[in-house]
Amino acid sequence: MANTIYTHYPPELDGQQEAFLVQTVKNWTVEHALTVRPSAAIVPSEFNSGNMLATNAPVTLFPSPFPESCFDQARGLQRVYNELYAAIASDEQWLETVLKELIEVDDFLANLWKIYLDVRREGHAQHLSLGLFRSDYMLHTPDDGPKSLRQVEFNTISSSFGGLSCRVAEMHTHLATYPSPQHPIAYPPHPLFNNSEDSPIKTTGRPPVNTAISTLTAGLAAAHQAYGPSKSTPQLPTCVLFVVQDTERNVFDQLALSSYLHKEHGIPSFRLPTSKITAYTTVAGTPERPLIYTPPSDTSTQYEVTVVYYRAFYAPTDYTDAHAWGARHSLERSAAIKCPSVLLQLAGSKKVQQVLTSKPPGPYHLKSFLPKHTDSTLESLRSTFAPQYSLSSSDPAVPAEGIKLALDPATAANHVLKPQREGGGNNIYRSNIPGFLKSIPESQWKQYILMELIHPPKDAKNFALRSDGAAALGNVISELGIFGTCLWRNTPGSTAPEILHNTEGGYLLRTKSKESDEGGVAAGFSSLDSVILYKD
Ligand code: ADP
Ligand code: MG
Repeated sequence: MANTIYTHYPPELDGQQEAFLVQTVKNWTVEHALTVRPSAAIVPSEFNSGNMLATNAPVTLFPSPFPESCFDQARGLQRVYNELYAAIASDEQWLETVLKELIEVDDFLANLWKIYLDVRREGHAQHLSLGLFRSDYMLHTPDDGPKSLRQVEFNTISSSFGGLSCRVAEMHTHLATYPSPQHPIAYPPHPLFNNSEDSPIKTTGRPPVNTAISTLTAGLAAAHQAYGPSKSTPQLPTCVLFVVQDTERNVFDQLALSSYLHKEHGIPSFRLPTSKITAYTTVAGTPERPLIYTPPSDTSTQYEVTVVYYRAFYAPTDYTDAHAWGARHSLERSAAIKCPSVLLQLAGSKKVQQVLTSKPPGPYHLKSFLPKHTDSTLESLRSTFAPQYSLSSSDPAVPAEGIKLALDPATAANHVLKPQREGGGNNIYRSNIPGFLKSIPESQWKQYILMELIHPPKDAKNFALRSDGAAALGNVISELGIFGTCLWRNTPGSTAPEILHNTEGGYLLRTKSKESDEGGVAAGFSSLDSVILYKD
């Protein structure tokens, strides 16, 4: 059944239908802020003075089919994954053991680790941490086995597109139901849109409601409340601070969260570009170390920051100079709750993900981090892991299994090589792996992990709205992200986090051309999409 679903989807469009659908999507996206600031490659800066233009975010014209059982499994695992990463970020010794040899050769990780050590030496002013997470998966459909859900990565910093993904689900629902679900004008009839009893496919007929905005903002609000009253004398009004990139184009995704945070929770928030942190924030010289923010537009008013929410500082390019590292250090040592802390950011390393895949007779890390969970829950979590390998060999005489697989072109063809980086565009794929490794000193290999490729459905197709305004039909690959939030307290001397808030809610589907290895929307590879669930 699954294969025929992909072969006969999406419905065919004649010229008139396609023109109508494209025009409707172009209008809907701008009307509902499903938008981004255009890149200079699309709108040259002389036509966009003051960076004032907005354009549609890259979107698919139709939602993409996804098996309900795998969607439910991903949702069901999210709170366990949240807890797992809270536990990892609470165990500095374990993290140090795992990351030690990488820190030796990777300046970016070394700088982050140094901030952690400096703050530890001074003493932590805040024992609460917040994670706004997104666990990313693909549907694995090997030729010789059953389909299953496989994790691509777990994001612990700047997990983006919660805001816009809600809008895409709303847009696809509108297209499938306007003016009536029985006779939508924009979509031709298709069994996947028919959720009645007599439909040949058991389907939801339209995307499930996406709750990413309310889930993520409820996480920020829980941390804001848990911070408690102002620690300043005299007391100051409190706020959340969104730390953003100076040249951010994905502004409307972030504004969806800050607007909702104010509207539903009454919490003010401010956007602060990384280059302005030092100018507009200070850490008070009191033992509590509250973080004080002075809005540049009203320097007579000061706020105390309860939560620093990073939508930046995940990539080396965000640290343009020593000031930027100083700014990160200053925020980390303050009393504000960090989303994420340096340790939680490091917990999201690809290396950690690889080490977690080990199982008895070796160390079974899942069991030690999640002692209260049943074996069947841990097995369900484990089943989402693709095989992954270290490229470090402690005994140079015996090459690690990963090194063998990576250097042999025959086995490299089914793998991806990943450095400890976020944000897209960093991986090395398939036949490029052996040559790449040989081009760098062997001492650097341990910075990478090798991961088996996930094989998504071969026949999946969808239309993407291209930046030139035309629609392109092609073979596609989709990646599902599930959002979750976790707030916890660490007790000095203990590695067990006290979990105060742990939620799952909302999803992101990103769909890219089958020819593209990478998957980021912001990086320009993918379109925002939503799911239509089918039972098989
Ligand atoms: P980043 O932190 O840069 O987002 P990812 O691990 O998510 O790194 O990899 C980037 C993209 O590469 C993914 O969005 C996905 O499209 C592709 N990718 C990563 N790992 C795999 C894999 N094991 N199989 C197939 N594609 C993968
Ligand atoms: Mg990714």
